[in-house]
Amino acid sequence: MAIRTFQYRLYPTQSQKKALQLQLDVSRYVYNMALEERKLAWELEGKSVGKREGYLLAKQYKKTFPQAKTVHSHVLQVAIEDLDKAYKSFFRRVKAGEDPGYPRFKSYKRWHSIGFKQYGNGFQVDGRRLKVSGVGRIKVRWHRPYQGEIKTCRIIRKAGRWYVSLMCEVADPVPLPKTGCVVGIDMGINALITTSEGEQIHNPRWYREAQSELRRKQRRLQRAQKDGNQRKKKLLDVQRQHEHVKNQRRDFFDKLVYDLVQTYDVIAIEDLKIKNMVKNRHLSKSILDAGWGYFKQRLIDKAADAGREVVLVDPAYTSKSCSNCGAIFEGLTLTHRWVECECGLSLDRDHNAALNILKRAGRVREPERSGLPQAWFRSPRL
Ligand SMILES: [Zn+2]
Repeated sequence: MAIRTFQYRLYPTQSQKKALQLQLDVSRYVYNMALEERKLAWELEGKSVGKREGYLLAKQYKKTFPQAKTVHSHVLQVAIEDLDKAYKSFFRRVKAGEDPGYPRFKSYKRWHSIGFKQYGNGFQVDGRRLKVSGVGRIKVRWHRPYQGEIKTCRIIRKAGRWYVSLMCEVADPVPLPKTGCVVGIDMGINALITTSEGEQIHNPRWYREAQSELRRKQRRLQRAQKDGNQRKKKLLDVQRQHEHVKNQRRDFFDKLVYDLVQTYDVIAIEDLKIKNMVKNRHLSKSILDAGWGYFKQRLIDKAADAGREVVLVDPAYTSKSCSNCGAIFEGLTLTHRWVECECGLSLDRDHNAALNILKRAGRVREPERSGLPQAWFRSPRL
């Protein structure tokens, strides 16, 4: 069995919005209190306090404070579990020698969701609506059917709008039939993506437009007076535009990943470090800049579902060496769009890099293209 998430927009009434906001606030207080408790226990007594003490604290809080009466106990428990996760990843980062980043106290701005642990206990689908404990029956836009059996859910506030994420248990995905095709993919500067077959995808034009719209809205926000009503509105505008850009980006990569997974048995990509990518000024305007991590994860997940293989290869010298004989191109700079080698190779720079990536994955056999669509990518809005 696998878990799938389905997200839907909610349309709460004014009083439901208030009730939802109260749930967010109360769960946030509980999170912050539990964090305080853990911090103090450690600093003052050298004791480590865990989830169990957190649950007790939540229970106590619910008993003592009237505002917490209408908040379901699972909502508070999930907040405690979120804190526990934050601590776990903090310890993991410490262990890995990374910049640890201690779990932080959550302000209104940094707290966006509440969770329920069990379907039918605190939340359930009731006709066309979602029934939530302490809130009532909320209108939902079911833009597509969910699948499988609902297990847990999150209710999320994003840019002043409300959503529900249903986590559903679904049957294991069925692997796709083999196609016998393999591909190497270069993530580049000139073209966004170049495959070892020489096909290219460029940075979508709408992405740049959406980004300049974002900058325009940010300027308007800066010009708005502090504490004014206008400012709140402008802030929502900015948040919504961010959301819009993010959705567009995801949609773009989802389609790309879908096509790759449909077409190839093995997909080789460079194992780039995101931090290095952001440092690269030439890439920072591209959709990849913010989307690389998403693309990589999505590709790995979808490939696993479909029984495909993703190979991450060492990115060193993929553009700088000849894919035919392995010679190193000395003095190759970003302005060189074409590479030529003494062995006779003469190729687009990114195409050469993609071939190197494929080679490094240990799958050099030339793919047979019979029966395949000529252009494997459908990117309608390029
Ligand atoms: Zn060569």
